Amino acid sequence: MLQVIARVPAKINPVLSVGPKRPDGFHDLATVFHAVSLYDEVRAAPGDGVSLTLSGPYAVGVPADDSNLAVRAAHALAAHADVPTQVTLSVHKEIPVAAGLAGGSADAAGTLRACARLWQLELSDAELAAVAASLGSDVPFALMAGTAEGTGRGERLRAIPVGARLHWVLAVADGELSTPAVYARLDELRQDRCVASPSVGDDMPAALAAGDPQAVGRALRNDLQEAAVSLRPALADTLRTGADLGALGGIVSGSGPTCVFLARDGAHAADLATGMAASGTCAEALVVHGPAA
Ligand code: ATP
Repeated sequence: MLQVIARVPAKINPVLSVGPKRPDGFHDLATVFHAVSLYDEVRAAPGDGVSLTLSGPYAVGVPADDSNLAVRAAHALAAHADVPTQVTLSVHKEIPVAAGLAGGSADAAGTLRACARLWQLELSDAELAAVAASLGSDVPFALMAGTAEGTGRGERLRAIPVGARLHWVLAVADGELSTPAVYARLDELRQDRCVASPSVGDDMPAALAAGDPQAVGRALRNDLQEAAVSLRPALADTLRTGADLGALGGIVSGSGPTCVFLARDGAHAADLATGMAASGTCAEALVVHGPAA
């Protein structure tokens, strides 16, 4: 049977700068997105209407109904192209859920790619990106992968060159953190303080272009970290443990609760992951590299 397969990577944010809350309730962002080698896989086959099955280590608890981002992506693409939504979707989830790794966005992007091929739609990259942006602010980057600067709500993207492969450890936490709850906590922590416009700055793009892990480690920055740690104080122990074990830098990934640590090279990443797992300060420690395609 005809089947289209799309493999889509998780992302981390080596820089996440969050501006003031806008009148519409969202925050302007300036961020560096970096795709890493941890993938969900979306399969699309002909179907009568839409159906979705989920498998893999992180499928448990994810809704397989119309609220699933993969199903929403299939409907959005069909509406855009004016075709009926007829597809049998299966998503294999290796990316932890509500972990700050944009797994749902990855599934949406994979579904857009797979359905566009299955339905033989002749869509430009710009058209696909516009459908992606209607689904969520991380979805356009999930389509693009690699490394990019994101502005606006994260949907305006510019590719950033990276001079060398970077080796990371993802310290996955037990349980989830809700992205809206973390932003709400950030607003509480900031109270009425005047907040500057968000900016990626120059240090991270320069460090990435140079392929200099030490400089990338120094430039890691996440404005959501304090809010995530205040909602989940145990993350402070996770971050401290990574630093004690010799990580070049460590931050909460996106809105958390995953913490991400940069290693000198692949062997150092393997040692760091072993140490993190043994410390008991995370549920699982995964070695990945980026930028992933
Ligand atoms: P982000 O960093 O973009 O906020 P995240 O990694 O923190 O994302 P996701 O894994 O995308 O979070 O999941 C957020 C919520 O979306 C979950 O609570 C989940 O129930 C819901 N969801 C809908 N569709 C999916 C999907 N295909 N995979 C994972 N979660 C999904």
